[in-house]
Amino acid sequence: MGYLGADSRGVHGLESAVVDLLTNGTMIVVIGPDGRVRAVNPPACAMLGRGEAELLGSDWFEVAVPPGERGEARDTFQRLVRREDDPESRFQARVVTASGEERVIAWRSALLLDDEGGVDGVVRTGDDVTTYHLAEQRAEFLQHHDPLTGLPNRRLLEEHLALAVARARRNETSIAVLYLDLDGFALVNDSLGHAAGDEALRMTAQRLRDVTRANDVIARPGGDRFVFMLSDLEDGPLDAATVVGRLIREALARPYRVAGAEFHLSASIGVSVYPEHADNADDLLRRAEMAMQQARRSGSGPAFYEPDAVDSRTRLSMTSRLRRALDRDEFELHFQPVFATGDQTMLGAEALIRWNDPEQGFLLPAHFIPTAEESGVIEGIGAWVLDALCKQAREWSAYGPLPRLSFNLSPREMLRSGLVPDIIERVVSYGLEPSSFCVEITESSAMCEPERTSAMLRDLNEAGFVLAIDDFGTGHSSLTRLRDLPVQILKVDRSFLAGVPTDPQAGAIVAAILGLGRALGMTTIAEGIETPEQLAFLVEHRCDMAQGFLLGRPAPAADLTEVLRRGAQAA
Ligand code: C2E
Ligand code: MG
Ligand code: MG
Repeated sequence: MGYLGADSRGVHGLESAVVDLLTNGTMIVVIGPDGRVRAVNPPACAMLGRGEAELLGSDWFEVAVPPGERGEARDTFQRLVRREDDPESRFQARVVTASGEERVIAWRSALLLDDEGGVDGVVRTGDDVTTYHLAEQRAEFLQHHDPLTGLPNRRLLEEHLALAVARARRNETSIAVLYLDLDGFALVNDSLGHAAGDEALRMTAQRLRDVTRANDVIARPGGDRFVFMLSDLEDGPLDAATVVGRLIREALARPYRVAGAEFHLSASIGVSVYPEHADNADDLLRRAEMAMQQARRSGSGPAFYEPDAVDSRTRLSMTSRLRRALDRDEFELHFQPVFATGDQTMLGAEALIRWNDPEQGFLLPAHFIPTAEESGVIEGIGAWVLDALCKQAREWSAYGPLPRLSFNLSPREMLRSGLVPDIIERVVSYGLEPSSFCVEITESSAMCEPERTSAMLRDLNEAGFVLAIDDFGTGHSSLTRLRDLPVQILKVDRSFLAGVPTDPQAGAIVAAILGLGRALGMTTIAEGIETPEQLAFLVEHRCDMAQGFLLGRPAPAADLTEVLRRGAQAA
């Protein structure tokens, strides 16, 4: 599938598009005002596992509605017959089949009228959306949990923490938040490979679970970071945190045995406490993280948040180090290739920023982009990225047509007026075509501030840039908005791929997202492809492109130069 323009998306009502994708035949049932079945089509018979003769004349609610839902279903139906409800309204309801299985059906109704205009029955058409429904439930779970460890993710942690703060305020109790960052984890990942890294994270999650009491919450907000929330503490939150900190250290100190290797992990732990250090969930979490950075620096036991020392010092130092990094050119772009799933030709590459920090070494974006966002340095970084990318692209254009080069825009950059003209000017000043570039914005930033974002995306699109929604599936998309945005590419977040193909529900979500992308005429890219099985799944479900460690890791520009040079020689 190519990059299709807006006119080719003939889909109205995205849900019905999904319904069409997931069902194989619409059911039709005609029900008289007395609730008895007057007519029924073969798909409905097949769904219910009952013959037409058996269904005709029988009471629909007795024969097809699960016992616990009959009363309400009958009431809804009667209101419709009495014209008290809008017959147009759509609803989802469960039916029960002859074998006792329950399915979820999306129904639409229409009234049958007699010659005098009285209601003579109801025609219902329905689609089986059970698979979609299950996928939604699983997506709901994944929105709140980390698929790797099953622990709550950052979002759910924030919800727990907000509730805990409300309770603590009411009951005058306290809370301690412990923020852990594993030391040495990057080394495991690099030397033993990603699968071993995942296994070490799962083992860590289990060891941490063993330390918790019933009321505690452990979460994995991302990467090699974990958070403990100790709530409803009657006295001495600092003592409680010290004890738990020691238990955590002991739990992690036991050797890890993974993939035939034995190694040790330890953690830097930062602690913040309600009400001493902060009086709301956001600040508690942020300050515990700052204290963790302090702990990492000092290398000793858990560090408690210190308003003056930690807050301004670490924040300022990180921010000023980032500024200095821009001045001293310490950033570097790596490139990860993107392939066609079918014949695995390389179609593009994504630019991903890295920081060679003289103090902490080689840093991935997760370690500095959040601070860069918060402090505003991201604007300078964004400009650096585009500049570096353009320089690189100009060099590569000597080897022939460029693969499509993607870069990431952060939500904060998108708020700046003048961003779009700046981007266009920069690309043009290097003598490059905007159509050689793809701008990636995350789903959540695409969905906020609808008017501004739409206008910005439209301008970029009109200038010739290809647009992609990144990390799709993790944010709250309005499907209608998605249809209206001038975006050509949907990138399925890699958290969904992680469960494929072993977890059928994760598979159903990926399939549903791919179906959605296709229905909207968008090109689909799956991120995080690590196994041949995942790739086969994508081929089978007609995903257009794939990106992941299996096919190519992010690597310095020189690697791609080599590929392009060889391509040019072969041609
Ligand atoms: P993203 O745009 O979704 O980039 C893909 C991320 O997935 C990259 O992480 C890449 O290394 C990782 N990845 C790719 N294939 C696999 C795989 O098979 N398995 C696993 N586990 N991971 C895979 P990275 O480079 O750490 O970047 C993380 C995020 O940081 C990016 O996510 C993007 O949101 C942001 N970022 C990166 N570079 C920039 C930049 O120049 N500017 C801005 N604003 N954000 C950036
Ligand atoms: Mg991206
Ligand atoms: Mg992504």
